[in-house]
Amino acid sequence: MVDTSFTHIAHSTQTIQQRYLHVITWGCQMNVYDSNRMVDLLRPLGYKVTDEAEKADVLILNTCHIRDKATEKVFSELGRLRQIKEYREDQGNPTLIAVAGCVAQAEGEIILKRAPYVDIVFGPQTYHRLPKMILDVARKSGNVIETDFPTESKFDFLPAPDESQGYTAFLTIQEGCDKFCSFCVVPYTRGAEESRPVQAIIDEATHLCSLGVKEISLLGQNVNAYHGQGPDGNIWDLVKLAEKLSTIPGLLRIRYTTSHPNDMSDSLIAAHRDLPTLMPFLHLPVQSGSDRILKSMNRGHTVSEYYVIIEKLKKAKPDIALSSDFIIGHPGETNEDFKATMKLVQDITFAQAFSFKYSPRPGTSAAVSMNQIAEPEKDARLQELQAVLKDQQTQFNKDTVGRKIPILFTHKGRKEGQIAGKSPYLQAVHAQGNDSLIGQECVVEIDECLTFSLSGSLVKESTSH
Ligand code: SAM
Ligand code: SF4
Repeated sequence: MVDTSFTHIAHSTQTIQQRYLHVITWGCQMNVYDSNRMVDLLRPLGYKVTDEAEKADVLILNTCHIRDKATEKVFSELGRLRQIKEYREDQGNPTLIAVAGCVAQAEGEIILKRAPYVDIVFGPQTYHRLPKMILDVARKSGNVIETDFPTESKFDFLPAPDESQGYTAFLTIQEGCDKFCSFCVVPYTRGAEESRPVQAIIDEATHLCSLGVKEISLLGQNVNAYHGQGPDGNIWDLVKLAEKLSTIPGLLRIRYTTSHPNDMSDSLIAAHRDLPTLMPFLHLPVQSGSDRILKSMNRGHTVSEYYVIIEKLKKAKPDIALSSDFIIGHPGETNEDFKATMKLVQDITFAQAFSFKYSPRPGTSAAVSMNQIAEPEKDARLQELQAVLKDQQTQFNKDTVGRKIPILFTHKGRKEGQIAGKSPYLQAVHAQGNDSLIGQECVVEIDECLTFSLSGSLVKESTSH
């Protein structure tokens, strides 16, 4: 569906001067996707992206509420943007500040109260209305706040991306969450779980591939719970969707993130064996290795159930690279619980992982628990865990030395004559090679494991995909 109500705005602005847009994106890949789509929405109105905030007529801060002192971070950044706005306006250049994302969703009114110089506040489900919000502010009708969960889906109102995305792209296929883990704000900020219809995803992916994209990362808070309306009238799962996407000409690689253990079906595990486009990498957060803590987190699975999934995955795809998220110091976590997490990490071994100190989030059940863990305890446990995870990541990378691996080259390397890209296991790899190979998947022999990347030598230019 195309929202025709904005067409007149686009026409009227085409005759006015070029305008600039500066977007600051914090948080997850879904926020990166959302920011890109905001740019797509504003481009027809004459807005061009600039890296220089001082040059921008519109400044958008796309925020994340998942951890830490999210709100305070926002106000501190807003202080900086306010100075830019005041300076620009002194020069006679009207400047608009918009706060988007999950902090905007959670703290909308508070933001406008504490920072009245902010012009627009909108949540993750209403950014399709951004052109109208900007117009409303320009007409001097005061601040605009849009943090409802609208009945219409924003996806029905977003234009197709019309600028080259490079060779890899994110594509949101599912949003929101109904699982209500004790520690998490997502169900409150992103709303109920919703899957986009299959055809809309195929259309967007086909369009991205026509722009030159070779690798698509399908995004969702629980992406493997995807269940979208198919063109045949049936509900499609992630496997069926990935199989269909694999037929799009030019698409070499499919990834998906983030998955929940409870939605890791046998058919999805089998797809890692059977579908060559599905990359051998899985981010499957476990959060804790203690059944007691998993229960209090409301995760809905046990440690042994997680082990079973991993066993099946390793059987189906022996070279699969595993990644996870860990929360350290969830309320009630004893030293024994922490040791159980360390044991899980030692048993499974991860190619990479993200680990966080538990951070109480307003409105969540864990935040009001009386059993909060002291910060120094959390710090000590986190350090211990991160040391092991770092060693495992280094070992995983070292184990690829000597192997011949297809690398999708996406950009120039840092040094003259280098090209760089990613392995199927999501490792950064660079090699000496001609720029003409950027955008192609080539076989590279890995020679050396460096601190942040691998270096290799080209064996074969372009794989047979
Ligand atoms: N849906 C995914 C799942 O269930 O595993 C995770 C999505 S969440 C947006 C990303 C990660 O942020 C979580 O896996 C968790 O490790 C971390 N996280 C969420 N809330 C947190 C909190 N209150 N404190 C620390 N880390 C948190
Ligand atoms: Fe948050 Fe993931 Fe739990 Fe949903 S399943 S509440 S997104 S951690």
